[in-house]
Order: sequence, then C-alpha cells, then structure tokens
Amino acid sequence: MVTPVPAPAPAALSGPARALQRLGLDTPLALALHLPLRYEDETRLTPLAQARAGETVQVQVSVVHSQVEQRSRRQLLLRCRDEAGDELLLRFLHFYPSQQKAWAPGTGLRVRGELRHGFFGREMVHPQVKVAEADDALPQALTPVYPASAQLPQAYLRKAVAGGLQRADLRELLPPEVVPPGLPALRAALAFLHHPPPGTPLATLEDHSHPAWQRLKYEELLAQQLSQQQARRERARLRAPELPVRPGGVRDGLLAALPWGLTDAQRRVAEEIAADIARPQPMHRLLQGDVGAGKTVVAALAAAVAIDAGWQCALMAPTEILAEQHFKKLVQWLEPLGLQVAWLSGSRKGKLRREQLAAIAEGRARLVVGTHAVIQDDVHFQRLGLAIVDEQHRFGVAQRLALRHKLRLALPDGGALEPHLLMMSATPIPRTLAMTYYADLEVSTIDQLPPGRSPIVTRVFAESRRDEVIGRIRDEVARGRQVYWVCPLVEASEAEDLTGKSMAELANVTETHAQLSETLAGIGVGLLHGRLPPADKAAVMARFAAGELAVLVATTVIEVGVDVPNASLMVIEHAERFGLAQLHQLRGRVGRGSVESVCVLLFSQPLSETGKSRLKAMAETTDGFEIARRDLELRGPGEFMGQRQSGDALLRFADLAEDAPLLAAARRHAPRLLEQQPAVAAAQVQRWLGAAAEFMKA
Ligand code: ADP
Ligand code: MG
Repeated sequence: MVTPVPAPAPAALSGPARALQRLGLDTPLALALHLPLRYEDETRLTPLAQARAGETVQVQVSVVHSQVEQRSRRQLLLRCRDEAGDELLLRFLHFYPSQQKAWAPGTGLRVRGELRHGFFGREMVHPQVKVAEADDALPQALTPVYPASAQLPQAYLRKAVAGGLQRADLRELLPPEVVPPGLPALRAALAFLHHPPPGTPLATLEDHSHPAWQRLKYEELLAQQLSQQQARRERARLRAPELPVRPGGVRDGLLAALPWGLTDAQRRVAEEIAADIARPQPMHRLLQGDVGAGKTVVAALAAAVAIDAGWQCALMAPTEILAEQHFKKLVQWLEPLGLQVAWLSGSRKGKLRREQLAAIAEGRARLVVGTHAVIQDDVHFQRLGLAIVDEQHRFGVAQRLALRHKLRLALPDGGALEPHLLMMSATPIPRTLAMTYYADLEVSTIDQLPPGRSPIVTRVFAESRRDEVIGRIRDEVARGRQVYWVCPLVEASEAEDLTGKSMAELANVTETHAQLSETLAGIGVGLLHGRLPPADKAAVMARFAAGELAVLVATTVIEVGVDVPNASLMVIEHAERFGLAQLHQLRGRVGRGSVESVCVLLFSQPLSETGKSRLKAMAETTDGFEIARRDLELRGPGEFMGQRQSGDALLRFADLAEDAPLLAAARRHAPRLLEQQPAVAAAQVQRWLGAAAEFMKA
C-alpha cells in the first residue's frame, strides 16, 4: 500500500526562517539593516608564544595527542602544538564521538578562544574549532556576530544577512549636497559594517563613531526630520477656527474668581497658548510641567478662551478617576460663571449618556470632560474648537491619531476645520528629544511650582521596617493629616480578564488594606483599585477627598493627577518595582498643600545595585526634569514616546545624546529636500520609517 505523502503547506517555514520572521527580518532591507553586535577577528593567527592569558586569540595548531579522561566528569583532552612547537591543551566537556574522530592526532586545527594558564600550561576550554591546515586561506574580513536567538543559529543568520545585503535596494537616494562630508555611500557603509576589513579599529565600530555608522545614523535622523517637518507643513495648510481672547468673558471671570494668582510661569504658558489658538492654523502644543505645577488651571483658561469665542472644548484624561476630578474642579470653577460642563465616561450609559450626547451635538454643552469615551463614534460635537489631552503619554499613539482625525469638522465647501490640540504631560521631555521627535510640536513649559509648597522629603526603607512606618501613619493621622499607601498593580485594561498575575497583585492590595485596617483600628482606611466598579471608585475618592477616610490604600490608579492637598504622607510598597517616572508621579500626590510631606519608599530584599541607585536617585531629587534625565539614561528614549504602546522603537541607529551634530545637519538639510526633491524625501521616509512614519505624527 502506498501512503500518500502530504504536500507541505506552502506557508510552512523552517524553524530558522520562522525565527527570522519573528525578528522582523523578512525583507532584504530589514536583513541588510540587521547590524552585528560585535565582530570576531579570524583574519589573523597568533603564535602561542605571543598570546597572553585572558586574551581571545586564533591559533593554528596540530593535534599531538587525544584522550578522553574521566576526572570529575568525562572530558576530551587534545594536546596540540603550533608551528613554533609551543603547546596548548584543549578541553571539551561536551563533545561528540564524531568530533573526537575528526580531531585525531596529526590533524591541523584552527582554534579560537580565550587563552588560560592552567595546571598543565596553556589551555583553552571549549574553543571554536575548525579543521584547517596552516596554508588554508584566512577570511578577508572580520566575522560579524549578529543579535540572534536560540532558534536562529549564527551561521544561518550570517548567510541570510549576506543575501539580504546583496538583494536589498540600497540605491543612493540622497543628493551629495545634503549628506555631511566624509560619510560613505549607504551601500558601502552597510557592506563595511557587515564585513569590516582586517585592521579596522573595532572601538570605532563598537562606539558607533565610525563614518559608516555615522552614515546610517544620518540617514535615519534625516528621514525622521523629513517626516516631522512634512507633518508640520501639512498642518500649516490645515485650517482651524480662530479663537481670540474676548475680554469680559468666561476667561476673565475665571481669573477673577480664582483664590490665588497665577504664577509667572502659568501666565506665560497661558499666553503662548492663547496666541496659538487665535491663529487660523491648528495648534499642536505640549504643555509640560512638573507634577503639581498647576497645569489644570492653564487648561481651563484655554478652554474658556475657546468657549468665549463661541466654540466647544473637549478635555480627555486617561483614567476615570482623573477625568472625574477634572470634571469636579471645572464644574466648581465654571458653573458659577454660567457654563454647562458635560461628563462622558465608559461607565455612564443609557438615558444619561444620551442626554449628554444630545447636549454635545446641539452645542449646549460647551465643555466636555471625560475619558477616551470622548472620542467614541457616537460622540458628535457641534463645533469643537479645542481638544485638550491630559497626561497625553498615557494614551496610545493610535488613540492620539484617532483623536486628531475624528475631531475634524467638515465644512460645507468640502474643506475641514481641525480643532486646536493641547497636550499636557508631567513627564518632561528632554530638550533634544523635543527638538527631534517633536519637530512638529510646540512645547510650553511651566518651570515653577506655585508658592508655599514645602518640599517632599523622600526616605528609603527596607520592608523589615514596615511596623515603624505604620506607627508613623498613626502620628500623621493624629495631626489631622491624610496618608496614601500604594501597592504595585499592573492595571489590565477594563476589558481584559483578570490574569493570574493581576489576581495575585490584587490580593496584595486587599491584604495590605486588611492589615492596615486591623492595625490602625479606629482610623478610616479606604481601598481603591482598578477592579472596583466606577461608582465605588468615585465614592472612595470622594470620602478621602472630604477627609472621612484618613488612609487610602491604593494601586497606581492614583498615579495621575489626583489632588488632595491635606495628604502629607505617602508609603510606596515594593517601590523597586516601579519606574522612576512613575514613582515621581506617585510622589506628586503629596506635598500639594503647605504641609510638610514625606514619601517612604519601602523596598524588598534582595535589591540589585541598579535598584538601589534608582531609589537613591528618588531620594536625592524632587526635580522631575532631573528624574527624567536619569530615567532616559536607564531606559533610552523609546519609553518617552509611547513605544511601549506602539511596539516601535523610533530611533534604531542614532542616539540623541551623542549625535547632536548629525541631528543638526539633518534639521538643516530637510527643508531643502522637501522643497526641491519631494519624491526623494518621500522615498527616504518610506525606506527608513515605513509604517512608523504615520506614528511619528501622533
Ligand atoms: P498638575 O500640573 O500636576 O496637573 P494641578 O493643576 O493639579 O497640577 O495643580 C496642583 C494644585 O495646585 C491644585 O490644588 C491647584 O489648585 C493648585 N494651584 C494651581 N495653580 C496655583 C497657583 N498659581 N497658586 C496656588 N495654587 C495653585
Ligand atoms: Mg494634572
């Protein structure tokens, strides 16, 4: 009987081919841009007598004696000798009988490994071995070692990359006058980086200062600049409603009603924003300011300008708690001035929601506050003039894009009016980053805290001092103050099921709540986490804000924006699990009033050296810009860009800190290319950014 052989599925890939695909190495260009991590020099042979212990060298030897020994474990020992007669012992703990046979006495071997001085003289443990005679040719270039994976053997990857390098379209797109002098052509640069000739100073490859590396970085930075400057030009052609300040309106009413005066910094940024939205091109501005700097009132003033000009304003926040807090504050500020504020969130459904939607569509609701519910499909603004996004980095790139597209107002003449966009963030962007990624963004910075704040003192304690810390809570509450206790919890999105992990962490926050309720008998201890129904969350927050609860045990749901000035102590459990920017955000929940505030970072042992220095950094500075700088050092710029959400690292080759001169050149040359050779500019962006180009505009 003949068994039919099943035809292989056409899409079936070999293990390594699948691994290539998983790494995104599925086009010739992607392969050509997969650069070596390091190089091995197999172009030279070192006489044993000249090799030093600890050095990695390649030597040519012949096997003198081969034996398998049973010491502590079975091992193959090869005694070898080089041309000059110096001896070398090779030791293999893992070996195949076939290898033992192939490496028989008399065989010539080319051996590469780290030389040691063992009991029996010179030796190498598990070197790379090739059977080769002394007159066999040496490679003409350094051997690349690529970032690989277990399923992707180095030899396979080397072949794939070499093939990709040949097939990839690496035509020189750029006219020479937009390339800094002294840099090789793109194809030559890549050929060089994959196969550097012997004698190339490896240090310049490793620190990426070699001209071939510079060329790649320049290509990438130029593509990025082109994309951003193009986006800026496109925006300049869009129309937006002109929203000039109208004296005697809501804005002036709000300014008069505030219990305090604006800081100079607030006044300055409010003016920057007002000047922007008075123009008929859409604003695209980031308002940054440290935690507690007072961004909300600046946003409210901008909203008031839009409303005075007869337009609507939407304010969107990443969490329901934060959105609700904004809502309350804005109601408190604006309703006395005769303004209706609408509220939209995922949890408000049915009749109430329909009423709000009608008020928004008919233009009765002049200010709409909410979560991303604000950009859902059934929300239609009558005439939206200004959209404000708080804590914009917490929204995914895709959501930010959706916002810009969705809120456009179609005009009868077929054109469209784009609303002005104000984004707010407490995670400051270092200047260089703002200049590059955000070439299509204006930045306003509030660099001053409102007066009368007392600085927050940060203490780092081991978990073993927990009881002492709890005692401190009692003192604080006795003095009429309030306390946050924060537990780590990775908040899954509301739609997601509880995973085993978040279950365990949920247990953590409820357990801590139980423990503190028991230990602090007689003191009101509340519990807040993302799993509570929104109404419960709001109720707990309200009781804490009103002072009915003295202690609030919470997950990071309180991270952004929550504002209870009477809170003077924050304890963060497992502080080592948080990012620096996140700790800074959390810590910003205290020190909002004039009372002296303390933040205690509790850490669990064992704590790594980096872990220690991270917590130390938190204790040493309360300056958000400084923390952002240290964070940047630790994590790289991707995180600032919402890379986690989009999965795209936006700069692969260039390093903003090091490549300032290249960046400056790219900034300078981009306009000429955009104006004189737009097709070349488009091809450059496509080649380097591809699908990521659209993301960079968000
Ligand atoms: P953030 O910039 O972190 O969003 P908020 O807007 O929440 O800061 O402001 C923090 C606190 O400071 C709030 O209680 C706010 O009412 C108060 N505040 C804002 N501006 C001033 C000011 N100029 N003088 C005094 N208090 C202010
Ligand atoms: Mg805020």
